[in-house]
Amino acid sequence: MSDHPSDTPPAIAIRDLVKRYAPVGNGEGKLALGGVSFDVPQGKIFGLLGPNGAGKSTLINIMAGMVMKTSGTVEIWGHDIDRDTRNAKASIGIVPQEVVFDPFFTPFEVLENIAGLWGVPKGQRRSEELLRAVHLLDKRDAYSRTLSGGMKRRLLIAKAMVHSPPILVLDEPTAGVDVELRRQLWELVSELNAEGVTVVLTTHYLEEAEQLCDRIAIINHGRVIADKPTRELVGMMGEKLVEITVDRDVSEPPQNSLFTKSEKTGERSICITYDKARVNTGQVLALVQQQGYAIEDVTTREADLEDVFVQLTSADAT
Ligand code: ADP
Ligand code: MG
Repeated sequence: MSDHPSDTPPAIAIRDLVKRYAPVGNGEGKLALGGVSFDVPQGKIFGLLGPNGAGKSTLINIMAGMVMKTSGTVEIWGHDIDRDTRNAKASIGIVPQEVVFDPFFTPFEVLENIAGLWGVPKGQRRSEELLRAVHLLDKRDAYSRTLSGGMKRRLLIAKAMVHSPPILVLDEPTAGVDVELRRQLWELVSELNAEGVTVVLTTHYLEEAEQLCDRIAIINHGRVIADKPTRELVGMMGEKLVEITVDRDVSEPPQNSLFTKSEKTGERSICITYDKARVNTGQVLALVQQQGYAIEDVTTREADLEDVFVQLTSADAT
């Protein structure tokens, strides 16, 4: 896969986006986005990852027209959000981080009301189809306040899709959600994507981002520090980790210039990170033995997205 996957125009193009929130008191104001640029390719699932306060929601709220940018440009499906606001808005469905709900309407009524707001003619509404897509058709006429947390989240996704936008954006859809519901939400996102919807999501769950997203941008302190196809990002470090249990207590972890990192992880265990291109597991173990340890047990694994994330964000901390 090449870094820039195709000639089709991007679903979203963001250039030099800056957001400085208005100061409280006589301070400078918080610089939430310090010049962000990236493209979201059409038809993909794009993950926006970053620690709390990185600027993810700010970015999404600018796309949604809910936060005013300071400078820079955003094009959604080819429509500039300043010059062509109406078409830009019509091209995107946003599922916000906060769950807000009107408890007095049924799921069907909720979707019909939104369709009305969007000016979708009665004959072109897809409320039932959407309820089926989010597995809520059997709750069509239930009061929304009786829905479980998971059902409410799914209804929010249906709400975002009422005007049939080609792009769906989900801001932390699974924050504080249990494992089973998270699995259901990801399944739903995958189904929508399989039908051609471009998906952008923010999440803390690196493992799932790794499984779900075709491409990932990592944002930290309002700056993009990585933007790559997921496979390249995961392979980026080319690192491997080996956990070693030895025959006696470890005082200082063994060091060698061929190790990227060596850590004591228990009384008798050591974790060594190394570059696969420079040294292999056998050599690492031999080097540990040379320092007087007998090896009792060994497990190895490839670096995953979490390792990459920790490495990138800690390198960026200064
Ligand atoms: P994330 O979604 O990645 O956690 P946010 O975009 O919510 O990050 O926040 C980015 C930064 O901007 C944080 O430092 C946050 O405190 C600040 N911020 C967010 N919203 C506002 C606001 N309305 N006024 C002032 N500062 C804000
Ligand atoms: Mg957020």
